[in-house]
Amino acid sequence: MLKAILFDMDGVLFDSMPNHSYAWSHAMTDFGLKMEPEEVYMNEGRTGKGTINILSNRYWGRDATDEEVERIYEAKSALFNTLPEAQPMPGAMELLNKVRARGLMRVIVTGSATHALLDRVNAAYPDIFSKELMVTAFDVKHGKPNPEPYLMGLKKAGISADEAIVVENAPLGVQAAHAAGIFTIAVNTGPLKDEVLKEAGADLVLPSMQYLADHLEEIVIG
Ligand code: MG
Repeated sequence: MLKAILFDMDGVLFDSMPNHSYAWSHAMTDFGLKMEPEEVYMNEGRTGKGTINILSNRYWGRDATDEEVERIYEAKSALFNTLPEAQPMPGAMELLNKVRARGLMRVIVTGSATHALLDRVNAAYPDIFSKELMVTAFDVKHGKPNPEPYLMGLKKAGISADEAIVVENAPLGVQAAHAAGIFTIAVNTGPLKDEVLKEAGADLVLPSMQYLADHLEEIVIG
C-alpha cells in the first residue's frame, strides 16, 4: 500500500537545472575545462569535487587539488548566484495538492546543501512539506547515486520501500532510488534521452511533472 511519495528537488520541484548547467559549464571553461551543458545534466547529484575531478582527469590527467576544487566551485557558485532564482516546476503544485489530498506523505530527498532550504520550499509550496520529512546533504554520508539518501527518506517516514514511490529527474538520482528498492518515476525535464533514465533504472519515464499531475490516479492506482 502506497504511503509516501519521495521527491527530488532540483529539476523536479524547481526548474533550477538550466541555471546549474549554465554556471557549471561557464565556470569550468574559465579554468580550461570544457564541460558541455548536457554533461552537467548527466552528473547532476554528484558532489562539486566529484564533478570537477571528472573534468580535471580528462583535461589535466589528474585529480584537481583541494585549492583548485575550491576556486572552481566558488566561481560556479558566484556565477549561479547572479542568475534569476529558479521557478517552481510547472505542474508540481497541482501534483503536490493531489498527493496531499490522497493522504500520502510528501518527502524531499535532495543532495543540495542549501541552508534555509525549508523556507524556500515553503514559500513555493505552502503547507506541503515539513522539516521532519526532508533529507538534505547534511543528513547523509554518501550522496546519490548511493542509495543512502533514499533509505534515509524511508526511515524518516517510517515506511518500507514497497510503500513509497520516488520522483526523480537525474540519472544518478534514479540509480540511488532504484538501489534503495523503490519504484522510481523519472520525469524527463531536461535535455537527456529517455533511454538514459531507463538505463539508470527508472520504472517509468514521463515527459513532465504536469504529465504526472494529470495522470497521477492511473499511475498510482495502476
Ligand atoms: Mg534532480
